[in-house]
Amino acid sequence: MVREQYLKVKEKIENACVRAGRKPEDVTLIAVSKTKPLELLREAYEAGARDFGENKVQEIIEKEPQMPEDARFHMIGHLQRNKVRQVIGKAVLIHSVDSLRLARQIEEDAAKVGIVVPVLLEVNVAREESKFGFFTEEVENAVREISSLSHISVKGLMTIAPFVENPEENRKVFQELYQLSVDIKSKNIDNVTMGVLSMGMSGDYEVAVEEGATMVRVGTSIFGAR
Ligand SMILES: *Cc1c(COP(=O)(O)O)cnc(C)c1O
Repeated sequence: MVREQYLKVKEKIENACVRAGRKPEDVTLIAVSKTKPLELLREAYEAGARDFGENKVQEIIEKEPQMPEDARFHMIGHLQRNKVRQVIGKAVLIHSVDSLRLARQIEEDAAKVGIVVPVLLEVNVAREESKFGFFTEEVENAVREISSLSHISVKGLMTIAPFVENPEENRKVFQELYQLSVDIKSKNIDNVTMGVLSMGMSGDYEVAVEEGATMVRVGTSIFGAR
């Protein structure tokens, strides 16, 4: 079942790319496997999945060594500062840098082990009380601050759009994140690229792809309800 669902999501992404005049290979499907057992991750892997998303450090640490070497794990959930040390070097990308304090912690821990950690800044585009992340107007300053940290490399932006019945309602959220990334890119900040836009989940990933997502994070539509 996971195989069919994974392939169906892939196909919908391809169709959205065609509608938007984009290349399917420019969109990475992250199979969000949080709470799901390894056998389902392996089923997705067999169907072609190589990128997996988790929101708990513990789950990345447990699953990563048990998957084939070319499986990549993305940290997509809120990251506590006392967990940073365990996840850097394990996750290929931290999507959820939501404060300068967290960025400084990543810098400190990454410097100790001599690595550079690729990250995205999480943006609370819709200004939801329940969500983490920078407000849109805070992002440029945050990017400038973080750009001075030599063990962090900012690769782009991420957002979690509101839960809505009709995905069209989130189109403007995705447009706003895209525009923000274009604006920041135009500032040519040292040590910062804006190539990655992580947006879109099971309910709205097609709209996100139409609006420029380069990574979509899809759980339920691949693995079923949690
Ligand atoms: C759980 C989660 C997803 C996937 O959500 P689905 O609706 O199951 O596709 C995407 N992004 C983040 C940050 C998540 O925590």
